[in-house]
Amino acid sequence: MELKIYHMYPDLLNLYGDLGNVTCLTQRCQWRGIKVEVVGFSMNQEVPLEDGDLFFIGGGSDRGQNIVYSHLLKYTNVMSDLIENGAPVLAICGGYQLLGEKYIDAEGNDVPGLGIFDYHTRSEGGRLIGNIIIKNNLGLTPETLVGFENHGGRTYHDHQSLGRVVVGYGNNGQDQEEGMVYNNCIGTYLHGPLLPKNPHLADHLILKALERKYNLKELAPLDDSREYLAHEKTLHLYSP
Ligand code: GLN
Repeated sequence: MELKIYHMYPDLLNLYGDLGNVTCLTQRCQWRGIKVEVVGFSMNQEVPLEDGDLFFIGGGSDRGQNIVYSHLLKYTNVMSDLIENGAPVLAICGGYQLLGEKYIDAEGNDVPGLGIFDYHTRSEGGRLIGNIIIKNNLGLTPETLVGFENHGGRTYHDHQSLGRVVVGYGNNGQDQEEGMVYNNCIGTYLHGPLLPKNPHLADHLILKALERKYNLKELAPLDDSREYLAHEKTLHLYSP
């Protein structure tokens, strides 16, 4: 089995170690004998994208987001069809915002989004920063996902969220919801190292990719004792 991972704009969208998520996905596949090809996709590149099995979009500055938008716009239909057809996508922070209609920055300027989803994001003064714990809505065990968030934007929508906030801010600091899930596309404010500390989420994405491509129903288990030690430590340190 083989997976092609598109790492979208690794040079422009890579805050707080988001790159570690791609390393984690790759390593967990390789431990299981699944071949992985990681393709960095960025400005001035014109490749089909349809052949991708898994897509990762990291977070970035407002400037980075603006630059990416002007290039990615051409791929709106391709991305939208991929998402509709169940391709797994993990979009973090700025990447998550980009899939929506727009982000209104702290000066009131519009940073347009692809509009694949109908949500919008606006900066409301003051950044939402800190460690975050949520309870996932994907049915994954353990129930918790741990991470770090740092965003000025507040996102509002009625889609299914990735989870309910236990500690931290999430989408907007108000409704206790974090992220968004549509088919196998996940948008979230949880930055890197998201997947290394949440191996159940990493495997969820890998399995969805393999299910779509090979109809695989189950992944070979790995020894995740270290990963869950890191997960547990975060829970222990930051739980109320
Ligand atoms: N535009 C984003 C914000 O809300 C960028 C943050 C990020 O990707 N970390 O601040």
